[in-house]
Amino acid sequence: MEQSSLFSADAPPPALIRGPFASVALERSFDRVLDYAIPASMKPALRVGQRVRVPLGKGNRPRHGYVVAISDTSPLTQRKPSAIKRVLGIDDERVLLTPSLLELSRWMSRYYCAALGTVLESVIPSAVKKKIGLAYTPVVRLAISPADAQELIEKTRPQKRRAILARLMQLEPGQGIGLHRLAAEAGAKPPTVRKLVRAGILTLTPEPDFDALTPPPPAVEAAIAIPELNADQSRAIEQLLPRIDAGGFSSNLLLGVTGSGKTEVYLRCIDRIVQQGRQAIVLVPEIALTPQTVRRFTARFARVAVLHSGLGASQRHRFWQQIWTGAADVVVGARSAVFAPVPRLGMIVVDEEHEASYKQDTAPRYNARDVAIKRAQLEGVTVLLGSATPSLESYWRAGGPNALSAIRQDAPGTQRLPGSQAHAMTGESVPHHATTPPGEPPPVPTPAKAPPILLSLPNRVRGLAMPAVELVDMKIQAKMRRGIHLLSARFEHLLQIALQQNQQAIVLLNRRGYSNFVYCASCAEAIKCKYCDATMTYHRTAGLGGVGGRTARGVHTGQLHCHYCLAVNSLPEKCPACGKTLSLFGLGTQRVEEEIAAKFPDLKFVRVDGDTMRNSRDYEDVLCRFANREIQVMLGTQMIAKGLDFPNVTLVGVISGDTALSLPDFRASERTFQLITQVAGRAGRGDAPGRVVLQTFMPHDPTIQAALRQDYAGFARAELSQRREVGLPPFARMARVIYRDQELDKVHSLGEKLATMLSQNVTAENGAVMLKGPMPCAITRIAGYHRGQIVLSSPSAAALQRVLAATRKEGGFAESGRVAVDVDPVSLL
Ligand code: ADP
Ligand code: ZN
Repeated sequence: MEQSSLFSADAPPPALIRGPFASVALERSFDRVLDYAIPASMKPALRVGQRVRVPLGKGNRPRHGYVVAISDTSPLTQRKPSAIKRVLGIDDERVLLTPSLLELSRWMSRYYCAALGTVLESVIPSAVKKKIGLAYTPVVRLAISPADAQELIEKTRPQKRRAILARLMQLEPGQGIGLHRLAAEAGAKPPTVRKLVRAGILTLTPEPDFDALTPPPPAVEAAIAIPELNADQSRAIEQLLPRIDAGGFSSNLLLGVTGSGKTEVYLRCIDRIVQQGRQAIVLVPEIALTPQTVRRFTARFARVAVLHSGLGASQRHRFWQQIWTGAADVVVGARSAVFAPVPRLGMIVVDEEHEASYKQDTAPRYNARDVAIKRAQLEGVTVLLGSATPSLESYWRAGGPNALSAIRQDAPGTQRLPGSQAHAMTGESVPHHATTPPGEPPPVPTPAKAPPILLSLPNRVRGLAMPAVELVDMKIQAKMRRGIHLLSARFEHLLQIALQQNQQAIVLLNRRGYSNFVYCASCAEAIKCKYCDATMTYHRTAGLGGVGGRTARGVHTGQLHCHYCLAVNSLPEKCPACGKTLSLFGLGTQRVEEEIAAKFPDLKFVRVDGDTMRNSRDYEDVLCRFANREIQVMLGTQMIAKGLDFPNVTLVGVISGDTALSLPDFRASERTFQLITQVAGRAGRGDAPGRVVLQTFMPHDPTIQAALRQDYAGFARAELSQRREVGLPPFARMARVIYRDQELDKVHSLGEKLATMLSQNVTAENGAVMLKGPMPCAITRIAGYHRGQIVLSSPSAAALQRVLAATRKEGGFAESGRVAVDVDPVSLL
């Protein structure tokens, strides 16, 4: 929470302690900013945005934090001057937080109800904070006054000592010089300098040498030919470039079908940015899963910083330094790359903007796509979101044409035209730089608000056809064939043909493990995790299930895994409750693997899921072998649905299109549609046409039907009008307050307490905010904690924000270990 509101301009000057004061946001979820006096010696060096050490609490334990403001007065001086403590030291001379990142962080702290210190922990990478990989050089300074030094030079005989002192006299007061450089420039040797140090005339301290932090050498990439733009791409770029050149905030959604060449549009825009001497940030969902996309950037631009999860701490720091000094033109990275401290931001691209992985599931629970929009707004630049299946929020905001016409038909009175669309985050028309402190000029003059525009690439590049999707009703399959078949006869047939023609295939099943239920028919119960209210998934033991692995039917060796708390148990031989035989129900990737191996004994295929892919190198390796056609089929979870571009893939099988449809989450349909469309989009990217077999037990479900037609607009229209009817996002903003405790009665009382606080603040909004709960979460217990929730929603983001802010101010969310606030949640489990 901010203290600035406590200032009063005409306060009398503090009597005891003189300013200026540093306001410090402490690390580790401490939801207050504290003021500290700045010792005189530190005044010239201390800057807003630096990391400092300050004392905290009765014991004055040193803690770290960031200077977020420096002001002449502090409310503390009037209340209790004796309580004012001093900054202990500057931890890092670099201004780690640029003013715009600080402003963005303040906004995140307010919007996502997170302590500013917690937000800053996400903004500044820990490798930077800990100065990992930094070389230290010994730095020499005068320990005596310049006058004394002058006197000493006159009295000293040895020539070298005089030269050393004379060189130091040339420096600015307080400035130092590297030991070796000093010795060399004075024609002396380091031991001579050290003698003067021992005599107390000079000081010698190891100091970090930031210049030595150079980025790791870029990987040498084979050049990728630059394609000539097609008409659709040209049109999109013609609309984007003027916006980029004009400067100022603009938000753009590029809706391009799979294989329509969206990346080329990003690249051309970034080209312009780089020519202008500015920097671009490109966000990709999970960088390990999109090596091909990343390579297109590194092949096209010379100075690219790639931030991925496989980086060591020291590499991460080196890239950060490269970015911070402006030596990187393009930053490509996952979620946290949105905080890349580029000095002259020109553009932010969010590829696959609909991806749930942009949302961080620990505090601060931010969505990098929305933070990107806010950052672009604060810094007055262009943001470009891209997807074949945009989130309905983005599509609605950009005035997706069908979405709008549908709403017009439904309720002419409530239409909202694109130009008057609500701002991404606040839901209200927010002027740019709304948060510029009074008295300061806005950082960049921005032209009148550019409405979000929807650019579309309706066709695949090179005139390639969209894949032909066909539906297989698995209920009919089950009646017609004996035994259990996860692969339909139709898919088996098409796979045979594809293999005969030396083509490749991708098979999707969005569930790891072998069987997601271990069920006792006599108790009518599935085995549940001891710590969670969730059934355990059976995973076969590694080695048995691999390619060609054989186990006698009915012999199950393996373990039960909880996908929520990661607990592992051995599979009991009999039902622990009644001693009867257990059966395995439901399916996972391991089971499909078993069936493929049995039906296609000579097939070269791999299973790609969180169990087989331990790190990004495993995955890169598989992709490489797939590209070389050493592997014919990849079977996996949604890992293989994203962004892959393999021209020889002609067949895609979706084993169970409805897997996610029944999840208790209002976005279940949206996710299902997105996943099917994305994986289908892997087929037919080369000259041979693509085919997709969509297997389902729910052939008539409207989502499955829309996926079958590959009809994003139709899906969006239907889904939006349903959401509108029941007041779900994007027609309402939502926030979840999730609370937990190991004891059930304590969860109940915590829920009641929170509900009381929230209800009072909800009442103040006169019906604009709806409160549901307290009620149990869909998964009532995870890792031994009982979980409850209160869900707030409102058509007005501002009203919702007021309720949250008021409750936060009353301390409702202070117990960060037990209470979590999730604004704009993407998961409701
Ligand atoms: P998307 O991201 O829309 O699925 P990509 O950007 O991956 O599509 O492009 C698919 C492929 O088409 C890539 O190999 C890309 O190099 C190529 N490509 C892009 N634009 C063109 C074009 N205008 N002509 C020919 N090929 C293109
Ligand atoms: Zn568990």
